[in-house]
Amino acid sequence: MASLDRIQGMTERQAQQRDAIIVKLLKLLLGLWDGFDRWDDPETILGMAARSATLVDSSTMSSRLLTRSFQTAVLRELGAAKQALPAVLNSYPRANVTATEVYSRPATQFVFARRSGLTFDESMDAFTKRMTEVATQDVKLADREESLRIFQADPLVNRWRRVIHPELSKSGTCGLCVVAAQRVYTTDDLMQMHGPSCNCTTMGIVAGDDPGYRLNDADLKKIYATAGSTAAADLQNVRISIEEHGELGPVLIKQGNHFKTAKEAGRPEYVAPTPATIRAGYERERAKVAASLTDADDRYAAMTDSVKFGADGSTTSAAIALFRSAKYMREYLAVLDKKLAASPAS
Ligand SMILES: [Zn+2]
Repeated sequence: MASLDRIQGMTERQAQQRDAIIVKLLKLLLGLWDGFDRWDDPETILGMAARSATLVDSSTMSSRLLTRSFQTAVLRELGAAKQALPAVLNSYPRANVTATEVYSRPATQFVFARRSGLTFDESMDAFTKRMTEVATQDVKLADREESLRIFQADPLVNRWRRVIHPELSKSGTCGLCVVAAQRVYTTDDLMQMHGPSCNCTTMGIVAGDDPGYRLNDADLKKIYATAGSTAAADLQNVRISIEEHGELGPVLIKQGNHFKTAKEAGRPEYVAPTPATIRAGYERERAKVAASLTDADDRYAAMTDSVKFGADGSTTSAAIALFRSAKYMREYLAVLDKKLAASPAS
């Protein structure tokens, strides 16, 4: 059996570095939107969402590279990882939705909160909460997807396990994770998500050597020792269900909890990404951003032609915000064009 100490160090480091990627991304995103006030301007908002999507794209790439080096190192400890890996495919990790749709949601949330009568500060809190959730989830989705690709590419790996990270959760590991971590999954199964606060990662099983089991077991013993027997029983007695979320794929829920499936919400059901769906997503995103950029350029031209330009501060600041958003859209289009050029035509 492989040395548990080394593998424990690796998995804790990976989870910690994934957290650092998230913290850095959130700092950039919240900094980008700080002071934003064009809540009624769809082109300006889309430009901000495009810049957000560009930042998220580079963070999901960092997350994937981190995952690769971590999973490969663990598999080497287990005597696997003998083959070369396919090139990293850094597509947006949600299904049925594009990045600018997702990164427009915090702005929609802010507008909705204001209309519902919340104060400016309360509405900003709603914005920040939503932004934090979607960005955190996206980095973790990239890790999950990349891990599974590595397991699938390795003929010596046919099972994997969910690994809990109590060292990272301030409020304690949730019962859903504890129960799910006792199961073994095949390389056809994506890890179930259940909210941005989940710190679980995955670990391959090679020739019956299942270090994730031993790591979880050691963590659970520590949790039970400090939590007391009632809390331990509570953690163990959670019953889980697995549902399909239209964007995230499989999610963990407490048995008996209501969960609105994609179908019930009138949204498309989750499909695992294929080269064709990935390409279609890029094309849809490209068309949307390009159309919005044309509108932004037209509006900016009209604003700057106007004799009123500069006569009052609000016109000027609206034009500056729009100009900046147009630049963000151009940058994001360049990112999408690169991805399209590298993605096989369907
Ligand atoms: Zn978890």
